[in-house]
Amino acid sequence: MSDPGPDPLLHKMLEISEMFSSIQGEGPFTGRPASFLRLSRCVPPLCPWCDTRHAWGPGTWISVSAAAEKILAHGNRLCVITGGEPFLQWESGLNLLEAYLIEKGITVQYETSGKVLIPSEAKGFKVCSPKYLSGTWQYRIENNTRADCFKFVVRDDPAHVAAFVKTHCLPETSVWIMPMGALRNEQMDRLAGVWRFCVDNRFNFSLRLHTLIFNNQKGV
Ligand code: SF4
Repeated sequence: MSDPGPDPLLHKMLEISEMFSSIQGEGPFTGRPASFLRLSRCVPPLCPWCDTRHAWGPGTWISVSAAAEKILAHGNRLCVITGGEPFLQWESGLNLLEAYLIEKGITVQYETSGKVLIPSEAKGFKVCSPKYLSGTWQYRIENNTRADCFKFVVRDDPAHVAAFVKTHCLPETSVWIMPMGALRNEQMDRLAGVWRFCVDNRFNFSLRLHTLIFNNQKGV
């Protein structure tokens, strides 16, 4: 009998920050039950307002096979793969995990900042959330056509977001705007302003439900 060879799902390793079953709290998939896989490591410059600093690393190493097993055990039909910056681990095993999940009928949704190039082979739904840092957008322009939609967190002056959308010729229907705030009260304070900004620009409005409900609790 011939040797079936090494199983790549077993031998490729991902560095992860956390995994849990919850509900997608923001963006176009809001409200859907989902498994979350948060991969470790991000791309400098790191955002001073980041509410997932625990994903900056170091994380825990887990085989692609074990990650897949845990996601399937959750029983959700949606898997949100986030970070940190998930695409840093595309070649080291994320590509295999995506293929496996899709083959099992699970919808894969990515959350990326767009600081790195989104792999052209990635088949999941790519939500890109560009970051404005140190007076400039930390963003790869090639992602204009690689992302499926764009999501922005806005603080007090959203004009630079409207300018980004215009400069990059993004369709309004592909843009979601959310209030910045790692705490419930910070988000509440900005809701009305974000609402008006969306009405004026015909953008989609999004809450951050997990923050409104659980404040800054981890793993929800
Ligand atoms: S890109 Fe996202 S994960 Fe990385 S530092 Fe910024 S907010 Fe945090």
